[in-house]
Amino acid sequence: MEITPVSIDARERALLAPYAMPSAQSAGREHPEPEHPYRGPFQRDRDRIVHSAAYRRLSAKTQVFTGDLGDYHRTRLTHTIEVASVARTVGRALALNEDLIEALALIHDLGHPPFGHAGEELLDELLADEGGFSHNAQALRIVRELEIRYPEFPGLNLTYEVLGGQQTRIDHDTSTERPLLEVQVVEAADSITYDTHDADDALELGLLTLDELFATPLWADAARRVGRRTANLKPHELRRAVLHELIDWQVGDLLAQSAARIQATGVDSPQSVRRADWIVVASADLAAAKRELEVLLRTRVYRHATVLAHRGEALDRMRALFERYVERPELMTENFRRRAAQLGAPRAAGDYLAGMTDRFVYREFARLFSSSGAGLAPPTDET
Ligand code: MG
Repeated sequence: MEITPVSIDARERALLAPYAMPSAQSAGREHPEPEHPYRGPFQRDRDRIVHSAAYRRLSAKTQVFTGDLGDYHRTRLTHTIEVASVARTVGRALALNEDLIEALALIHDLGHPPFGHAGEELLDELLADEGGFSHNAQALRIVRELEIRYPEFPGLNLTYEVLGGQQTRIDHDTSTERPLLEVQVVEAADSITYDTHDADDALELGLLTLDELFATPLWADAARRVGRRTANLKPHELRRAVLHELIDWQVGDLLAQSAARIQATGVDSPQSVRRADWIVVASADLAAAKRELEVLLRTRVYRHATVLAHRGEALDRMRALFERYVERPELMTENFRRRAAQLGAPRAAGDYLAGMTDRFVYREFARLFSSSGAGLAPPTDET
């Protein structure tokens, strides 16, 4: 039996809403390439990101909690997959372009350096004279310059829609145009995901108690919703049920709000989405409840003494490595030595460090600064 793949255009014409971004309207790529026989442009972008070294390294990068704290909590990679999962659910329900959504979700945290926001703040300080450092901009540097996968061009040569979606994370407060709905969905899914999983991870690590969480309106409401279905749950059962409820409730609320705003604004094309008000938003009540939870997470979790202590040592090592590479760029791999010659040693060292996993920082520190690491082989661009 011969199988003829359904054309991407036919598939999207049948499935996508008029306000979704169709592959056929893509503005293309920086370096023009022929179309693929059966994969659409955003599907290819998604695949290129999944096959990149930067994506694989997310598995050994801190989301909030470093790896030495345990094995239960999220890494940057599992967070990314959770975001993609929630975003695709929302995107499918709203008949948006799931391929574009998935590519945007998988790229959204690609630029995070080792050790999470603490690592980012340190690099921003170290690169202050060079224009600073932000993970959102770094994701674009990775996919446009730093990943080397093709002989014809640097980077992954992603579509303008994926690059533009990531760019809106940088221009967030200054842009006069709204991003595509696919971009808005990923942003909302990021917030739903981290609010929920950071609380879960903090509970597991003993940094927060269930009682503290139930004192927030978000968790109290979610527990009431669970209680309407099931009674007499043990604490660990209640915790699981509430976590599930939190995601389901937030996604349901987001869908209802978005559908109402799509109706009210009458958007009927990706172009009209850019001119309309922001569409994919939570209800005011839920947004307020989320903000209260975020305050608790900021004050009690992200700055918890245990978390800070683990970060402190890591950051000292990153700083030492940065200074050493700037002084002696030849200690970096060939790609980054070349970048040092082109862009100056500080930016090249920043790019090199930002790409490292948490454990690679420790390995490099041992190699360059301690006698125990003296026998370690120098890294290559393939590692
Ligand atoms: Mg994220």
